[in-house]
Amino acid sequence: MSARVVLKRSIKRRIAFGHPWIYDNEIEKADSVEGGCIVDVLTNSGQFLGRGYYNPDSSIRVRLLTRRNCSIDTDFFAEKLKRSLGMKSSLLRYGNALRVTFGEADGLPGLIVDKFSDWLVVQFNTLGIGVLRNEIIEALIATLKPKGIFEKSEGISLTKEGLESKEEWLFGSGPELLPFSLNGVTFFADTKGQKTGFFLDQRDNAEKLSKYANERNVLDVFSYTGNFSFHCMSQGANRATLVDSSERALSVARETAEINGFISRCEFVRANAFDYLREESLAGHNLVIVDPPAMAKSPSSKKSALRGYKELNLRVIKKAVSGSLLASSSCTQIISEDDWMRTINDAFHDSKKVGIVSFRGGQPLDHPEVSSIFETRYLKFCLFRVFELCDF
Ligand code: SAH
Repeated sequence: MSARVVLKRSIKRRIAFGHPWIYDNEIEKADSVEGGCIVDVLTNSGQFLGRGYYNPDSSIRVRLLTRRNCSIDTDFFAEKLKRSLGMKSSLLRYGNALRVTFGEADGLPGLIVDKFSDWLVVQFNTLGIGVLRNEIIEALIATLKPKGIFEKSEGISLTKEGLESKEEWLFGSGPELLPFSLNGVTFFADTKGQKTGFFLDQRDNAEKLSKYANERNVLDVFSYTGNFSFHCMSQGANRATLVDSSERALSVARETAEINGFISRCEFVRANAFDYLREESLAGHNLVIVDPPAMAKSPSSKKSALRGYKELNLRVIKKAVSGSLLASSSCTQIISEDDWMRTINDAFHDSKKVGIVSFRGGQPLDHPEVSSIFETRYLKFCLFRVFELCDF
């Protein structure tokens, strides 16, 4: 029998309606168990609520894996994987990459799995999910039959759980740069790069944006390895300038440009994006992408994050000539779409320009947003057509 965690009498609506996190102050009593153990969560009157893993050192004491009274074993993970794949596999018509599991949003807290062609990159971002790694790897092998599984656990959630970063092959093997295709373009997931090696969450936004790129000159600020640039190049953009602070990201971008035949029309600039946008003119670029990393993790830094978004977008809008396109994005979860749009509207206002919205984007099918877990909604994207007031 699993150890038990009993909740306080007034159970939060959040938990009752599907949120998987149980905070320390929501618990009445708990059996003494080690970090990472499976526990049963019971209501105050003793009713079974669900089963999850326990971490006594985290303010999120339990993350629920299921609301059923079932074993947490290889079959359990295989079932969860099959459900997610069933929902998402239509995306494989557009390439051979997919976020198979997006943690809480796919009912598997702490677990990220990206498929890049025949390889999988996994992140075990919590202590509890790490303890279950053997069952998960077995389930992944049985369900997806990969050539290799690479672990790339990193990030602040890992530090919060008292864990260290890891980069190693757990099963089989593969090259350092994992080639895969997306919307007809060959990309690489960099096993030595950021996050899982490629930002699959921008797949739809990049594809939709590319339809506006014909004969445009692209400036891709915070380019990473060129997801947006090369989608645009594949749909007729004249040239692309990629700006990023990471030399590694730019070198992978160079290889990507080479393999797709775009290299002679691409330029790679290693720079701090804030300085670059302050100091450089747009030099004829008339499609500018601004996709910075998350700017805030806690509500206390919300204001400074909004200032950052304002600053970046303002610098582009001020320099953009009428008819230019600005593709702006934010992956900061704690900033709402309304607040972010208001900030960009302020930047248009301060520049005495208007932005006509061409389309608003969001999260693709493989990065689902779940009604009961508001934290699963994070990605914002908008394409604006910039006009001087007098040209509007
Ligand atoms: N647009 C990319 C993802 C961008 S992730 C895509 O779709 O794949 C954010 C990128 O910003 C990372 O590549 C990181 O190296 C870069 N970065 C972070 N801070 C930066 C800064 N101050 N100046 C320039 N690049 C920065």
